[in-house]
Amino acid sequence: MSDTAPRDFIRQIIADDLASGKHAEIVTRFPPEPNGYLHIGHVMSICLNFGVAAETGGRTYLRFDDTNPGKEDEEFVRAIEDDVRWLGYDWGERLTHASDYFDRLYAAAELLVEKGLAYVDSLSAEEIREYRGTLTEAGKDSPYRDRSVEENLDLLRRMRAGEFADGEHVLRAKIDMASPNINLRDPALYRIRHVRHQHTGEAWPIYPMYDFAHTLCDAFEAITHSLCTLEFEDHRPLYNWLLDQAEPPARPRQIEFSRLNLAYTVTSKRKLAALVDEKIVSGWDDPRMPTIAGLRRRGYPAAALRDFVKRAGVTKKDKLIEMGMLENSVREALGDSSPRRMAVLKPLKLVLTNYPEDQVELMEAKNHPGNDEMGTREVPFSRELLIEQDDFMEDAPRKFFRLKPGGEVRLRFAYIIRCDEVVRDDEGNLVELRCSYDPATKSGMPESDRKVKGTIHWVSAAHAVDAEVRLYDRLFNVANPNAAEDFHSVLNPGSLDVVDARLEPALGETGDRVPVQFERLGYFWPDPVDDAPGARVFNRIVTLRDSWAKIEKQAMQAVG
Ligand code: ATP
Ligand code: MG
Repeated sequence: MSDTAPRDFIRQIIADDLASGKHAEIVTRFPPEPNGYLHIGHVMSICLNFGVAAETGGRTYLRFDDTNPGKEDEEFVRAIEDDVRWLGYDWGERLTHASDYFDRLYAAAELLVEKGLAYVDSLSAEEIREYRGTLTEAGKDSPYRDRSVEENLDLLRRMRAGEFADGEHVLRAKIDMASPNINLRDPALYRIRHVRHQHTGEAWPIYPMYDFAHTLCDAFEAITHSLCTLEFEDHRPLYNWLLDQAEPPARPRQIEFSRLNLAYTVTSKRKLAALVDEKIVSGWDDPRMPTIAGLRRRGYPAAALRDFVKRAGVTKKDKLIEMGMLENSVREALGDSSPRRMAVLKPLKLVLTNYPEDQVELMEAKNHPGNDEMGTREVPFSRELLIEQDDFMEDAPRKFFRLKPGGEVRLRFAYIIRCDEVVRDDEGNLVELRCSYDPATKSGMPESDRKVKGTIHWVSAAHAVDAEVRLYDRLFNVANPNAAEDFHSVLNPGSLDVVDARLEPALGETGDRVPVQFERLGYFWPDPVDDAPGARVFNRIVTLRDSWAKIEKQAMQAVG
């Protein structure tokens, strides 16, 4: 494939439509229902819709599908706008609502009635379900199906005028009750609901159904390519029927692609809302959530999310994508730009018995091993240090190259030390290590013959800054929690580990909120909500390596 070949089948269709002159300009839309926060699956849809238009000099609408009054919330509207903007996309003037078109939608409904293609049905919801038939059995015509155009028009206008109670009547398209496609068995177009709408107030006692509203809104906005997920494939014949019969000004083409499903998480809004409502997470923006707000608060850069969905690709095949792939995009986005710092998450005291009591040396530390332009900083070094508990092992195997009794290790940017003594309290708990340093081995000094295999990080006990560090892990402990009967049973109880960490002093200054790499530990950044001067709170964005890789691979193979 050449560099200029479209990278997926939708981009191919669009390129062909531009080349053939079918369209001079590409117009797309992203149509969320404001009944929850956007998640990683939506990122795919956003990047696709805004992406294909931007790449071809076209336009994209952000259209709120607000046909379900009562379920929608201004909090969600604001969050969706924030999230799309944060992802790097701009709808310009093209922010719309399905409710902006209520008058035109109603006019289209009257037109269908006048053409004898829609009727007012007075069966109950229960009866309508019974008459619909099943996948293997044809439906039956409603006894109201043959009402005259005049009667239908009269009833529809009285529905519109608010004369009937909820559920008393429904407007249905008159298509084919025997169609093998259930969506064509006289689908409902309008239902009566005496509910206040957040935009239109009390103006409407009837509201359009999703398929009807969505199709015609696409046409009113002259959308050229209406891109949606595969579950709408069976709705496409209805989409096209409505375009044929309701005579809208344009004819969009619906194209379906597969949903993006991420392993170890759920993306159903219902389940995400349950996690929030049941306080299993701290909110829609909990950094463990697969919501854009959660991933952003966790510290994932927008560029990483865009890169991830690009790699996942737009296809027709259902896919469950490994979390490791998303995390790799995050590591790549952070690797070059994040300054390195030292932090100890689970501290163990280490005393250098031969280091002068009151001496403090400022060690020069590179901010990035691969980029000298990022400069250096000074890190205070003294007699009492803190190292990671994991970096010491008493009965260490031969291949353990960190610190062990009698063993040597280099302290990053400082000296080679040797562990002389392990101090325990009465209960046998490890209290401190007593070590000695070799003054001839300071980093940057001419290489001595002394070589050690391991280098560990540290902070100076007296200079270190306290911080709460939040270590996040998968929210679920199975690859496909959607398949679990009850998702509560597959929650990962270890998805959040909060530790009292000690940081090098440079991390005590609240400057710009940028991701940093804690050497050897991962990428971290100050939590945008809870971090404060003097009370630092850091989130772990991602570890340096994928500790789940092996487990995940096996699990994914099992899922198939
Ligand atoms: P629900 O139907 O549970 O309310 P939804 O995820 O379908 O939620 P919408 O607000 O209707 O939410 O979605 C807006 C757009 O995002 C739709 O075009 C939908 O097809 C697309 N979308 C939703 N989930 C995914 C996903 N996992 N992968 C790709 N696109 C998605
Ligand atoms: Mg939906």
